[in-house]
Amino acid sequence: MSAEREQYAVLHYAEASLKGKNRPLFVRRLMHNIRQALADLGEAELRPLAGRLLLRLPASVPWETVAERLGWVCGLANFARCTPAPHDLEAIKRALDALLAGRQFASFRVQARRAFKELPFSSQELNRELGAHVLKTHATRVDLAHPELTIYVELVPRLALLYLEKHPGQGGLPVGSSGRLLSLLSGGLDSPVAAYRMLKRGCNVDFVHFHSYPYLDRTSQDKARQLAQLLTRYQYAARLFLVPFGEVQQHIVSAVPPPYRVVVYRRYMVRIAEALAQQTGALALVTGESLGQVASQTLHNLRTIEAAATLPILRPLIGMDKAEIIQQAQAIGTYAISVLPDQDCCTLFVPRAPATRSELAAVEAVEKALDPAQLLALALGGVQEVALCFPPPRPEPA
Ligand code: ATP
Ligand code: MG
Repeated sequence: MSAEREQYAVLHYAEASLKGKNRPLFVRRLMHNIRQALADLGEAELRPLAGRLLLRLPASVPWETVAERLGWVCGLANFARCTPAPHDLEAIKRALDALLAGRQFASFRVQARRAFKELPFSSQELNRELGAHVLKTHATRVDLAHPELTIYVELVPRLALLYLEKHPGQGGLPVGSSGRLLSLLSGGLDSPVAAYRMLKRGCNVDFVHFHSYPYLDRTSQDKARQLAQLLTRYQYAARLFLVPFGEVQQHIVSAVPPPYRVVVYRRYMVRIAEALAQQTGALALVTGESLGQVASQTLHNLRTIEAAATLPILRPLIGMDKAEIIQQAQAIGTYAISVLPDQDCCTLFVPRAPATRSELAAVEAVEKALDPAQLLALALGGVQEVALCFPPPRPEPA
């Protein structure tokens, strides 16, 4: 261990989700994802250690960058930059001195935790020994309830890991452990949050965006690209399908009375998305629908839309309030992109007050005038596929 040239971090995963046979799979997937997240930051070594992970990186990599990347890894409960020391009280004290050098703190506590049994000292003894040592080296006092500084010591086989600052992780499950989804991504606020919720449940999420270019401008596509790229930082690779929807809408408009158009648009989006899902291997679709939020999202209309689907449609925001969704969008950084002005395809040729209680039979009846095979071919023939990755590739040197 050459502390000058290396830096270390201890990473904790969400124990609650680790049951029986799934555990090794979960840990392997998590480790794979962490390596991906740090892939461009230099030679990393990652190993499992007594129910946590120990990461080693060159000291030259800025910790802020490492922390930012680890903060996006789903399946981590928390993590900390740490100083490793051998199981030797004097060595631990020396490591602690280095860690605390130059720091002033009015109060502190030591929180030692043993991750295994065979040790020459108990965590209580270590708390007392190190506490007494800090009182000798610093002008401070012990405060067990509300300390200014907590000194964490984790005892794992052969090592004591010391740290002062714990960063919260994403929680959830490692992406890639729950199967693949296809997200219907508008340029709006809700659908990116919905996709994020499913990423956090361990799904890989590809994206499909419907646009009405050239009837409308390209703003919604630009937003969809930016949103999909942002969400790729949680999953390292994804596909975005940009689907021309204007021609399909023209056909729908010619056959369907205004009040039903939004619902029929949605039913066609679902059908087209399912065709793409077959290509990607997605097992379900995801939308940003939230019950009652807009006219197209009444229970009646959701039912009418869903009847066009054969795959499950996941709606992780169905029970969330707009305020909660906005808060989450701000937290994950999609908000600033979503609120940019755009021209959304759903506003094309629809009345301001669409039917809120579409009857399935009535919608099916008006749809009879359309040829689904023809409309699907129209849309799928013009699909543009964008491959996304994270970390993004370095720009070629000029
Ligand atoms: P969002 O904030 O996600 O745009 P919204 O509140 O505007 O949602 P709707 O316009 O009714 O609600 O859209 C409902 C859902 O249908 C969206 O969350 C999204 O999943 C999907 N959707 C709507 N428009 C598009 C589009 N142009 N491309 C892809 N999916 C779309
Ligand atoms: Mg929208």
